[in-house]
Amino acid sequence: MSITNSIKNLLDIQDENITFEKNCVEKGEFKGKPCKYITATLSYVPTHCKQCGIKNENNTVYKNGTQTSRITLPISGMHPTYLLLRKQRFFCKACERSFTAQTPLVKKHCFISEEIALKRYVHTLNSSLLSSYIRTGIRTLKTFLSYIKNNFHYHHNNGRVEGIHNKNKGS
Ligand SMILES: [Zn+2]
Repeated sequence: MSITNSIKNLLDIQDENITFEKNCVEKGEFKGKPCKYITATLSYVPTHCKQCGIKNENNTVYKNGTQTSRITLPISGMHPTYLLLRKQRFFCKACERSFTAQTPLVKKHCFISEEIALKRYVHTLNSSLLSSYIRTGIRTLKTFLSYIKNNFHYHHNNGRVEGIHNKNKGS
């Protein structure tokens, strides 16, 4: 069994676009506390541009850098375990916009539900901006939402997000 398959089995990851390399498990520190980091890569050739929907023919959409998300893994052990997921970024020549590779894994381990993320974000949008998003359609909103969620993973303290989540559940 390959390293990728062994770790996928261990972590219960089904996405075939996620791969692990040799020595991908490292000891580290998060907020001054010891932890383990498992580094993985998410990459594939997209069939369409996520932004404008154009078919990816003749390298219209090409690979362009990566974006890393830190995902807390539900593993109980001596120390917390985080998955550092290097997600492929793509650039579309047709619309000149970028987007990030997606995986259901982020959804599965996400600490905030889509509904709550949407509710919280909508508060910060003014009404004219909001209506333009509605006009653009649910598809754009979904792309946008995943971007917001990914940002939560990377930039924010999970504890705080969880706190807000709990508060939301209780109210
Ligand atoms: Zn495009």
